[in-house]
Amino acid sequence: MNLLSPLERVKGIGEKTGAQFTLAGLRTVDDLIHFLPRAYEDFSHVTKIIDIHPGKATIQARCEKITTRPVRRGLRITTATLTDATGKLQAVWFNQPYREAQLKAGDEFYFSGEFEFNYNRYQLTNPSAEKVSDMPVQTDRILPTYRSIKGLKTTLVRKILAELRPLMGMLSETLPAAVVKSEGLISHSQALLNMHFPESLESLEQARERLAFEELFELLLASQLNRQENAKLVGWHIPFNQSVVKQFVEKLPFELTGAQRLAAWEILQDFEHQVPMNRLLQGDVGSGKTVVAGLAARQAAHEGFQTALMAPTEILASQHAETLQNLLAPFGVTVGLLTGSVKGAARKHLYSAIAEGGVQVIVGTHALIQESVNFHRLGFVVIDEQHRFGVKQRQELLNKSEHMPHLLAMTATPIPRSLALTVYGELDISVLNELPKGRKPIETKIWSPNSRAQLYPLIDVELAAGRQAYVICSLIDENPENELKSVQAEFKKLQNSIFKHRRIGLLHGKLKTDEKEAVMQQFVRGELDILVSTSVVEVGVDVPNATVMLIEDADRFGLSQLHQLRGRVGRSVHQSYCYLITSTSAKPSTRLKEIERSNDGFYLAEVDLKLRGPGEIYGRAQHGALNLQIATLADTKMIARAQRAAKAFVGSGSDLLQYKELAIRVHQYQRLTTLN
Ligand code: ADP
Ligand code: MG
Repeated sequence: MNLLSPLERVKGIGEKTGAQFTLAGLRTVDDLIHFLPRAYEDFSHVTKIIDIHPGKATIQARCEKITTRPVRRGLRITTATLTDATGKLQAVWFNQPYREAQLKAGDEFYFSGEFEFNYNRYQLTNPSAEKVSDMPVQTDRILPTYRSIKGLKTTLVRKILAELRPLMGMLSETLPAAVVKSEGLISHSQALLNMHFPESLESLEQARERLAFEELFELLLASQLNRQENAKLVGWHIPFNQSVVKQFVEKLPFELTGAQRLAAWEILQDFEHQVPMNRLLQGDVGSGKTVVAGLAARQAAHEGFQTALMAPTEILASQHAETLQNLLAPFGVTVGLLTGSVKGAARKHLYSAIAEGGVQVIVGTHALIQESVNFHRLGFVVIDEQHRFGVKQRQELLNKSEHMPHLLAMTATPIPRSLALTVYGELDISVLNELPKGRKPIETKIWSPNSRAQLYPLIDVELAAGRQAYVICSLIDENPENELKSVQAEFKKLQNSIFKHRRIGLLHGKLKTDEKEAVMQQFVRGELDILVSTSVVEVGVDVPNATVMLIEDADRFGLSQLHQLRGRVGRSVHQSYCYLITSTSAKPSTRLKEIERSNDGFYLAEVDLKLRGPGEIYGRAQHGALNLQIATLADTKMIARAQRAAKAFVGSGSDLLQYKELAIRVHQYQRLTTLN
């Protein structure tokens, strides 16, 4: 038997058990060895009966008397009197009559179970029992518990792993020896032994440290190697032209913030290098990312390069097209919009204009990555709300240029720094941590559902002053029919009674694209006072005159989604308001309280990370694949440590291929996380 043997070959696994493991994705011995415990119960201290306290306990005792009686149909209770040199106690098992046969022999056993008050007395409930003369597997140790596998008892998993213990001792080292040594880590093999058979809490801690390091090291090594490979690429050289940039800035209706200037400067610097830019522009909602991208696009166009900007929704794409049109038209730069709803002759015409360089900035949805789109000297690619796209879509767009274009990925979902290192380890990062001047912090308030009558008049005051409002309805479950109903019902309700005198629009994902577009345009032009919508407006939409964001069933949204939605207001000098109506009058969740308390997206991102974990937040497409079992992306210190080690490894010029297993996993990561 070796690591690659199918589990059926292991003693104690029959065909049926094997099939059960297979269903859980565990096929080989190696798979099971790397199936790590989910938690532990400490049964490692043998207690004398005289010293026993309520809670988990292990005793070493003999069975004095044991009987089983039926209590009712389907329930048989086995009770035993256990004794050691210090005293007696009672143990009880439900529906385990075989205990009689097991314990009658008169040997000494370890019993591990919960000592608790039941049926008017203290007793040991359902303890596992093992002969003292055997190697204990189920008692008298820190007991691992495993993610439950249908049809398999955790005791069976423990038993099989005990069979595999000798093999675990022979596992080869996966990390370079120099790294293991300089980091003071235990070996891979020892770490797995410790995970499955911890001898102490310290040995468990060492195992976790080793395995967490290993996971993060692989991940960060992958991003270091991607960086290295990126540095070998030859891209477009786009020289910086001060007067071009100056003119652009002077024509703006506002002054750039310091953070915008710095980000723009970093981008223009990158443009001058032959190595293609690989940069993430992180900015809180409303921090003004678009104009930064616009400035860079202006510089690119001046040097004869095309810019492509890809946005996740049509609404957003057309809004960006309009914004960029306004920013760039004064300089004779033409902007085209390519979405699914540009059809027929218009589309053909646009295709050829793109191919001939007749348009310099092309804004679109994923329509941009279709085969029939051919660019002309595509030098700069901007991906807005980049977490909405998969790695593959980004790559497809980048591949449309004869040289690797400069890439600017933008996101309004701020990411804690530690996380940015791992999830976006190969990117340079620019941060817009400053809102434009004159913005007033949005006032956020949680309202219970039965206080609506007081809330609506407050909103009407805003509308009377010429402002606009969003009313967002949740997607109650993933069922679009349901979503439709709730948003339509709300629309009718407001239209027919409370806001009879106002102009109300309805927006949801089931409308045809041109219908969506039309409603959105009406709202943008101020022809609607209220927009009742699903969360399709969540991403990026910019209507500065809107000052009220009312969110129904707010507790059904995630923290960053709420922050995004709220970010639709507070985009001008007017005071803005965000009202969060809960679906029940129960006490509001931590999430809602945090969002009520803070307007700072970076702070909320930290909170969100703590509450939900990174997988939920940063999208399965990027994160699910990371498949971290032990490491958590919230462990800043470990991330920094693994980052240093990965850099040192790459810097030392060591050959990764020397470490076969490591190389395979790192290459997998490289493919999953690269942007090139
Ligand atoms: P986001 O970063 O959320 O994508 P946008 O790029 O949509 O933000 O910009 C938000 C709004 O702020 C837009 O209406 C934009 O014109 C405006 N804006 C951007 N920069 C500034 C600035 N420096 N001063 C004033 N307003 C600005
Ligand atoms: Mg935006």
